[in-house]
Amino acid sequence: ESGVQSPGSGTPIVILISLDGWRWDYVERARAPRLRALAKMGVRSEGLIPPFPSKTFPSHYSIVTGLYPEHHGIVSNNMIDDAIGEPFSMSAPTAKDSRWWGGEPLWVTAEKQGQIAASMFWPGSEVEIGGERPTHWRAYDHALPHRDRIQQVLSWLRLPEQERPSFITLYFSEVDSVGHSSGPESTEILETAAALDRDLGLLMDGVNDLALGSRVHYVIVSDHGMSQTSMRRVIILDDYIDVSTVDLIDSSPVVGLRPRIGTVEDVYRALKDKHPSLTVYRRADVPAELHYNAHPRISPVIGIAADGWTIATRRQIAEWQANGRQLGGNHGYDPRLRSMHGLFIAAGPQFRQGATIPPLENIHLYEMMARVLGLKPAPNDGRLEATAGVFRSPSS
Ligand code: AMP
Ligand code: ZN
Ligand code: ZN
Repeated sequence: ESGVQSPGSGTPIVILISLDGWRWDYVERARAPRLRALAKMGVRSEGLIPPFPSKTFPSHYSIVTGLYPEHHGIVSNNMIDDAIGEPFSMSAPTAKDSRWWGGEPLWVTAEKQGQIAASMFWPGSEVEIGGERPTHWRAYDHALPHRDRIQQVLSWLRLPEQERPSFITLYFSEVDSVGHSSGPESTEILETAAALDRDLGLLMDGVNDLALGSRVHYVIVSDHGMSQTSMRRVIILDDYIDVSTVDLIDSSPVVGLRPRIGTVEDVYRALKDKHPSLTVYRRADVPAELHYNAHPRISPVIGIAADGWTIATRRQIAEWQANGRQLGGNHGYDPRLRSMHGLFIAAGPQFRQGATIPPLENIHLYEMMARVLGLKPAPNDGRLEATAGVFRSPSS
C-alpha cells in the first residue's frame, strides 16, 4: 500500500510537511498510525533539533535555507531593524519586505535551476527572495481547513508532467496552538495530534491514487517541541529593572533588551545572576552552540528562561489575570533541551527503510532535500554527511 519503490524511476518529488509544535514524543503518545507506518517505511530521527530561538519563523526558515538565524536574518518571530523601520511580526505587512529574508530557500534554489516549486504555506513563501517566489503560493490563512490544504497539494500533483512541481511545502499550525493553550501533557494535544494524523492519511491516500509512489519523498518535520509552563514559574522583570527604561523585543521565554536610557552594561548588570531560572548574555557572549551572535538584529542583551519558565512584566501578568488566562505550553527555549526537539520522518525511494537515527539539527535538511532533488545547494551552514544515515545509497 505504501508505494515506496526502488530509486531512479522518474524525476524525484519532495513534499515537505510541517506539523508546527509537534514534539518528538507525540508520535508515540498519540494515536498516529499513519505517521508510524510512514516511519516504518522510511527513516525517523529521535528528534529534530531547532535553531535558537526555537520559534516558528526562525526555525522554519532554517529548514528551507540550511542557515542558522544569525545568518538568514529571521532572528525571531518579533524583531527590529533600524534600517527597515517597521518592527517585524509574523502577520504584519512588513514581514513581506524582502530585506528581512536572507539566504536562499529551497524553493528559490529549485526555481533557479529550472524546477517548479509550490507552497501550501511556509514562512517566507509569500515574499520575493533573491528575485524569486515559488511558482505557486498562497497568502497565509490560519483558518484554511486541513482538507483544503491537502486538496491544493493533490491538485498540484495532478498537473501535467511539464507543469508539476518537484518541491512542495505544506504547513499545519493546530498542534502548536493546542500545545500553547492546553500544554504538551494534556489529552487535548493527543486528540489534536491524532486528528492531524488522520488528515495526513488523506494526503498519503491521494498520492498513492496518483501512482507517484516511486517518485514522492515525504519529509515530515516540526519546527520545535513544547514545554509545560505555569503561573508558579514566572520571572518578573520589574523585580530587577525599570521596564520603562528598556525596549523589550521578542517574547517569553526569550527577551531581547535594548536600553532607552542608560547603557547596555546597566541593563546586563541589572539582570545578570538575579534569578536562578533566567540566563542573561551580552550578544557577543551568547554561547557558540546557540549560533546567536553575528546578526545586528540580535538585541544587545538577551535573557533566556529555563525550561518551563515564563518571563513577564507586571503589566502582562495583570492582563493575563484580568483575562483569566492560564499558562499552558511554550517554546523558544534552548534547543538542546529535549522538550524543544521536534519530529523528523523521511520516506521515499531514495531513503532507507525502517531506520532510526539520533537527533539531528534542522539546518542539515536543506542539503538533504537538495540532494534528493538533484539540485546544487546554495552556501549554507548544514552538511550533507549529517544526513548520510537517511539515504539508501552513499552520495556520489
Ligand atoms: P509561534 O508564536 O512561534 O507559536 O507561532 C505559531 C503561529 O505562527 C501559528 O499559529 C500561525 O498562526 C503563525 N504562522 C505560521 N506560518 C505563518 C505564515 N506563513 N504567515 C503568518 N503567520 C504564520
Ligand atoms: Zn512553531
Ligand atoms: Zn508556538
